[in-house]
Amino acid sequence: HGDFNQNIDYVFKIVLIGDSAVGKSQLLARFARNEFNLDSKATIGVEFQTRTLSIDHKTVKAQIWDTAGQERYRAVTSAYYRGAVGAMLVYDITKRQSFDHVVRWLEELRGHADKNIVIMLVGNKTDLGHLWNVSSEDAKEFAERENLYFMETSALESTNVEIAFNTVLTEIYRTVS
Ligand code: GDP
Ligand code: MG
Repeated sequence: HGDFNQNIDYVFKIVLIGDSAVGKSQLLARFARNEFNLDSKATIGVEFQTRTLSIDHKTVKAQIWDTAGQERYRAVTSAYYRGAVGAMLVYDITKRQSFDHVVRWLEELRGHADKNIVIMLVGNKTDLGHLWNVSSEDAKEFAERENLYFMETSALESTNVEIAFNTVLTEIYRTVS
């Protein structure tokens, strides 16, 4: 019974940002429901999904917000960023442009979000290794320079998705506890 009436110690809002079609919604589906859909349509209606997990014997509810197709530059509103303590900034490792746009997303994020926000740079779609267009070294170097965590993932194959979210959540936990 306790499972249903679990006391939540913390609620952490995390936002997903990055160009359209990089795999934000599928990363969220993988983390929140362990699902994946190859033909995912642009997200409609649903603002966020949650997953409750345990960190350091505390019950943490991750409330993860997904853009509803507002990825055009500057179309994401400040309400989206409000209260966010973490961000997953996603690019597609097969699409150079989605990586080139990371600087813009970072600028927008830093303009709207709390200055202590924990940010993870995520290079998604590593299962498409033969189409690799952004070197891990470039991305890692950029992340270090900008003080971001960095991980390469595949929502399709479920590679590093869990650890990417858990790293952000644990780091947020360390800063608030
Ligand atoms: P969003 O616009 O950033 O939310 O991107 P979506 O999550 O809707 O994904 C866009 C497309 O990329 C969809 O066809 C997904 O099935 C596909 N996709 C997402 N993640 C992966 C991945 O890790 N590997 C591969 N091969 N395709 C992916
Ligand atoms: Mg989406």
